[in-house]
Amino acid sequence: MTTAFYFDERCLWHTTGEHALILPVGGYVQPPAGGGHAESPESKRRLKNLMDVSGLTAQLDVQTADPVTREDMERVHPASYLDRFKEMSDAGGGNAGIYSPFGSGSFEIAALSAGLAKTAISRVMTGGAQNAYALSRPPGHHCLPEQSMGFCLLANIPIAIEAARANHGLGKVAILDWDVHHGNGTQAVYYDRADTLTISIHQEGCFPPGQGTAEETGAGAGEGANLNIPLLPGGGHQAYLDAMELLVLPAIRDFAPDLIVVASGLDANAFDPLSRMQAHSGTFRELTRMTMELAKEVCAGRVVAVHEGGYAEVVVPFCGLAVLEELSGIKTNVVDPFEEITEGQQPAEDFVRFQRERLRQQAAS
Ligand SMILES: [Zn+2]
Repeated sequence: MTTAFYFDERCLWHTTGEHALILPVGGYVQPPAGGGHAESPESKRRLKNLMDVSGLTAQLDVQTADPVTREDMERVHPASYLDRFKEMSDAGGGNAGIYSPFGSGSFEIAALSAGLAKTAISRVMTGGAQNAYALSRPPGHHCLPEQSMGFCLLANIPIAIEAARANHGLGKVAILDWDVHHGNGTQAVYYDRADTLTISIHQEGCFPPGQGTAEETGAGAGEGANLNIPLLPGGGHQAYLDAMELLVLPAIRDFAPDLIVVASGLDANAFDPLSRMQAHSGTFRELTRMTMELAKEVCAGRVVAVHEGGYAEVVVPFCGLAVLEELSGIKTNVVDPFEEITEGQQPAEDFVRFQRERLRQQAAS
């Protein structure tokens, strides 16, 4: 069976206004000459372009999708938030939360972004593809039910999962969020629910500041179904593999989900401007391989990856290509020129051992 790839050019037309990285310009924040807001279309466009020129796109089942419906959105978001977001979007743009500016028409583009995720899950659940990748933009994992946050305007993955529960009787789901920032929005949606295991591997204390600690383990019926794995800044390739071996794989194996959804942020790479981790494309390749191997064991290989963050525009494409090569089992002849550089910048063995011991302690607690 093939790997399905969900993409729509219109997702790249979502605009974020005049910003420098994450701040609106003004005062002493000079308008940037070439760049602008960190969450630009460029990293996504370059990933698709690299897939095209490497010949990978032609070997995948490439699809677009319908936007999610109001009913789909209301399974996760209150009507008051959706009304406010739609009204601002129709009026030319604004910000309906924290660090989440948008321009005219972004409501419809966000619905399309979530629609790519929804259709990707639907496709895999109905047996049309073994696995799938949705190149969703705007991203979703910081978006709270009642407000947007961190460039995320709709909770793409929860909307997609809840649609599959309503339409296809999808049962237990494990969400593995390897975006370098904490998947706080996804955690908030599922914090008190037992049917969804939410796992976030992230740089400790990065964004949102002070959130995503290992002590946040879920509440009520959801107690034990939320796993945060904060890694020390500077952690590299081995820290991610250790987190998988010591915590992620055992937790998913125990949970025995019917589907694994990956929140595939690619911003843990060493060049990302919004984080301080030292991962590279080989890390993402290995994370994908480990996830697929586990999925074969627990859920008939069903894996859906949904794109999240990633702001090093020239590096993200190589990380994304690695994920897609693993998902599809197709190796292109692209060699990531950044991987060797980052390999030479891995933390000292003492640091790696210290981080591993922290993970061991968390696993034992
Ligand atoms: Zn991120």
